[in-house]
Parts: sequence; C-alpha cells; structure tokens
Amino acid sequence: MADIIQLLPDNIANQIAAGEVIQRPASAVKELLENAIDAGATNIQLIVADAGKALVQVIDNGKGMSETDARMSFERHATSKIRNIDDLFSIKTMGFRGEALASIAAVAQVELKTRRTDDELGTFITVENSAVTKQEPCATNTGTSISMKNLFFNVPARRNFLKTNAVETRHIIDEFTRVAMAYPQISFSLTVNGMEQFHLESGSIKQRIVQLLGNGYNTKLVSVKEEMDYVNVYGFVGKPETAKKTRGDQYFFVNNRFIKSAYLNHAVSSAFSDMIAKDSFASYVLFIDLDPAQIDINVHPTKQEIKFEDERIVYAFVQAAVKHALAQFSIAPSLDFTLNPEIQGLDAVSQPFTNRQQDETSSSSLFKTFSQKGQAHLMEPTNKSELKHWKDFFKPNELNTDELIGSAPASKPIPTYGLQIPMDDHSQLTNKSSPLSQHINTHCIQLHNTYILATAESGFLLVHQQLAHERILYDRYSAASHGTQMITQQSLFPVTLELSAPDAALLQDLLPSIQVIGYAIEPFGNNTFIIQGVPADILKGNEKNSIELLLEQFKHFNSDVKFNNREKLVRCMARQQSIKAGQPLTEHEMQTLIEQLFACTTPNVTPTGSPTYVAYTENQIDRMFQRLM
Ligand code: ADP
Ligand code: MG
Repeated sequence: MADIIQLLPDNIANQIAAGEVIQRPASAVKELLENAIDAGATNIQLIVADAGKALVQVIDNGKGMSETDARMSFERHATSKIRNIDDLFSIKTMGFRGEALASIAAVAQVELKTRRTDDELGTFITVENSAVTKQEPCATNTGTSISMKNLFFNVPARRNFLKTNAVETRHIIDEFTRVAMAYPQISFSLTVNGMEQFHLESGSIKQRIVQLLGNGYNTKLVSVKEEMDYVNVYGFVGKPETAKKTRGDQYFFVNNRFIKSAYLNHAVSSAFSDMIAKDSFASYVLFIDLDPAQIDINVHPTKQEIKFEDERIVYAFVQAAVKHALAQFSIAPSLDFTLNPEIQGLDAVSQPFTNRQQDETSSSSLFKTFSQKGQAHLMEPTNKSELKHWKDFFKPNELNTDELIGSAPASKPIPTYGLQIPMDDHSQLTNKSSPLSQHINTHCIQLHNTYILATAESGFLLVHQQLAHERILYDRYSAASHGTQMITQQSLFPVTLELSAPDAALLQDLLPSIQVIGYAIEPFGNNTFIIQGVPADILKGNEKNSIELLLEQFKHFNSDVKFNNREKLVRCMARQQSIKAGQPLTEHEMQTLIEQLFACTTPNVTPTGSPTYVAYTENQIDRMFQRLM
C-alpha cells in the first residue's frame, strides 16, 4: 500500500492558520492598526468599504519597510518584533507572532505600498492566495499603506459566515475605538464607504475619550491616577451619574492593549459600590501599566485575554485607585474652607513632621531641659502610665482567640502564637541567667489566665505570660533587625491601608525597618499603602490593625530619644504581638513559652526592665514554712 501522509501546500496551511487570526473584517482592522502603531506612525487612516468585506485599508506614516522586508512580511512567522524566546517576556509591541500579514494574504487580495524615509523609491507588492503576484518599485509617501480586498474571496464558506454589514461595521468601529483610545497622541481617522466618520486629532486621553464616547462625558469624568514601582493605574471613571443600565463604555488597557476582564471590572464596580444602582454599570477608561514580565501576553495576542502573574494585586490596585479617585471627587467641595494663605503656606502646617525635624528638636537645648536627668523640667515616662496605655491597647479579647483556641479541632496542630521552637530542641536552652532554667519540668499550670506556674526540680517559677513573651519576641525581632530576616507570610489578598498624611509620612520613614521585621508594605501614593505580607506571627485579618497599632505605639515611644527607629519599632512589635494577660493557654503553649524564654540571653527581664518571672527555690519555700534554720 502506498504511503498516505502529505505536507499541506503553503496556501492551504496559511488559510487554516488564518482562521484563528482573521475571523472577520474587524480582526484585520485590529492587526493592521497595531502594525501601524508598532511602526511608530503618528497619523493613521482607516478606510473601509462594504463593512470591510470589500476593502479594509490602513495608511500610516510610520517607518515603512525595505524591499526585502516588504516581501518577507507576508511569510508566516515573519516578524521584526522578537528574536528569541526571552524577548517574549519583555514585549512592548502590539504584534510579535508574525502571523497577521501571512493570514490576511492567505484569505484576501492584498496590496502593499511602503517606503522608508531615506529610500528614494518605495515598494509595491500584490499578494493573493499567499502568492506574490506583482512586485515593483513605486513612488509613494513615507510609511505604509496596506489594502485588504475581498476578504474570504477564496474561502466562500467563511464569507457566508459573516454577519450583516451593520454588525460587521459595528465590530470595526469597536476595534477602531479601542486602538484609538489607547493612543491619544496619534491622530486617527475612519472613513466608511467614502464618508469620514471619525477625525481624531492627537491630544490628551480625556480629549480622546470625549471624541470617541461623546461630548456628554466632557464634564463627567473623574481622573484616576496612582503610581508605584510595580504598577501604574491611570485614566478616567465616569461620575456616578454616567452609569448605564447596559454594559457600555468600559475599557481596560493593559500596557495599552485592550483587554476584557470580568475580574477587574468587578474591582471597579466594587469601588463604586454604593454610589450607583445595583443593576447599572459604571463607565471607565482605565490604563494599567506594568512590567511586561508580570503579564503573560503570550496567551492570546489576537484575543482579549491576559494573564497577570498575580491578578489579586492588580485587583487591589485598581480598586484602591478608583476608590481614591471617587473619594477625592466627592470630598473635594467640602475641603474648600479658607485658611489664611500665609499660615497655610508654612511648612509646619503643610508638611508632615519629619524624622530630621524630630531629631533636631530632640537635640535642642530646650528639649534637653525636659529630657535630661538633673534638668528642671525632666519628665520621666513612668512605667505605670505607660502600662496603662498598653493595657488599653490590649484588651485580651481583641484578638479573636476563640477561633484559634476554643474551637480548634483536635486534629489540628495547636496554635503556638509564633512560639516556634520545637519542643524537644533543648539545645536552645541556655543556662546563663537562671539557676532554674535547666531544671524546668514540663509541668505547667496557668493561674488567672495570666501567670504560668512551672514546676522545677528545686522549686517553681511564676512566669508572667505577656512579659515573658514580650522578651522572646523582642529578641527575635531584634535578631531580625540585625540580619536574620523574619519570615513574611504573603497575604492571600493584599490589603490597602489609607492613613492620615502625618501617619503616612511616619510609615514611609519606617518602611525599611518594618520590612526587616517581616512586613511587606509598598507605598501606593497619596497616603495609601498596600500590605502584601505581614510577619508570620500576625493573625489573618489583623494585618491592617497591626500596622495602625504599631504606628500609634511608635508615636508614644517616640518621645524616647535614646532609641533609633529600628529599636523603637522592635519594641513596639514585641509588645504588640505578645500574648496578652488574660489569654488562656494550652499546656503545650506554656511549655514552649518557657523553653523559649530561657533560650533568651536575658530571660529574667523585659526590654524595659520589668521582671518576666519570679523564682521560688525549695530553700526559700522551706524557710517560709520555717522548716529550715
Ligand atoms: P507581527 O506584527 O506579529 O510582527 P505581522 O504579520 O503583523 O507580524 O507583520 C510582519 C512584519 O511586517 C512586522 O514584524 C513588521 O516588521 C512588518 N510590518 C507590518 N506592517 C507594517 C507597517 N505598517 N509598517 C512597517 N512595518 C510593518
Ligand atoms: Mg502585526
């Protein structure tokens, strides 16, 4: 029997492949407009006839092609935009698969005229059924003009699938709008059946939006603009009154590429939440710019799907950006009170109190009279008042302990509140400061949910659980701030944190130190931060709160000038995260706590000098009972 496998002729293979790229005239419009943009054009004309079925022509003033390139451009996988696989991850052009022109040439009759600025003559090429039918030099303007005539002339089945002219024209206008919207600096025109439908001069994004979506938007757009290292979000949202009952003017562009994303759409709608009716749709034109390495553009260059490396972060950014924009728009009028401009202009009023100013203040002689020993106005922070303050912060029930302790099913590991040294790792125990540390027995009893009574071979210890834990955490954070980075738990869902201007300035100052102790926080402009991760010790849902507390505490510590920021932060963290008095502990937790306490270099006192435990030796006890002389 004869062999039966054959290679498909090129034109058939191209026709099949074209099915994916060119489904209708509007697909060709998109591809040709994008090529013109990639060629650096500043003026692009689109001309269609018979809903694109008879003609789709794009004329640009871009860089044009050499004779050889012009010929090559119709080959499949012919592209000037990537050379190797790595380029895929930094792609900045609209096209790169080298399939568009080959596909168009497989299913239509194509005429190309192109010239580069420095070439005297341009090139004229006609292609039909993937074969070049004519190639000759020609006189033409700088740039490129490509005409696609009689789409699907050679694939009648597909031609029959095209919709009515009204529908196909609508698709063309949609594609044109999406491309023109993303490039307001380029002037565009669209001529349909000899009538110019759009004439768009280059201008601002806002002007372009109004030109494309209608004058009605002129006074109804709210500017969105948030920038940070990783991602920028900018553009406009329609004021709530522009919301429509039908999904209408909603545009997302990722690196200037139009995308559809129900997920990001949700981010915007949720930012509008109460401002528009449940069944109506907000209008928006939003641009999201991020590092191409973070998006997988390769998924579907012809379709409008895109994959983000971490779409939840993008979600949070978009939502925060829109919320912020809307908030500014709605509160702006009420901020319109007048303050004497001379006062308003003073740095002390308009600028947050900086670290440097604080340092200057604290080294001033006036300040020293308050803060130095032997000076008339010395105000020593008394431990008592400080403790009271801490107590207010740490009502035992503030942390949702029920969830963690009471109802934890037996099969789950017992929560250890970050007491992570394994139980039998006795190498961690040192005997430097306590005569009892070696003899601690594993038997523990909790008294008043506050003290741990731990038996030892020759006596017992009464450990204050909160103070002990504070010592442990202090040592851990302080080690972290000197090299061993704390473990950060990435938040499943990044949390945005909006602060007052002075708090934001303070947090900004503290960012480097805060990172070392396990927070992953990024500034997001306008006093907003994104919490991407928190130290592993912090309970889920408590991320935001923990930072607000931290700042609050830090401000109180801040009167203490002998510590640098990092040290203050470490102390705050230790207090904040410590197990509070009043919290029931399991025996396992108590044991771990005590083991870890005695692994510290100075287990007997907290960083501020309070005792962490009291030891009763057998001798002492005996003496109390007058058993010993
Ligand atoms: P891709 O855009 O994916 O590279 P295309 O088939 O769309 O593939 O185009 C093939 C190549 O032809 C492009 O890489 C580019 O070098 C060239 N080209 C296409 N259109 C133009 C144009 N309007 N101006 C200049 N060069 C063009
Ligand atoms: Mg292309």
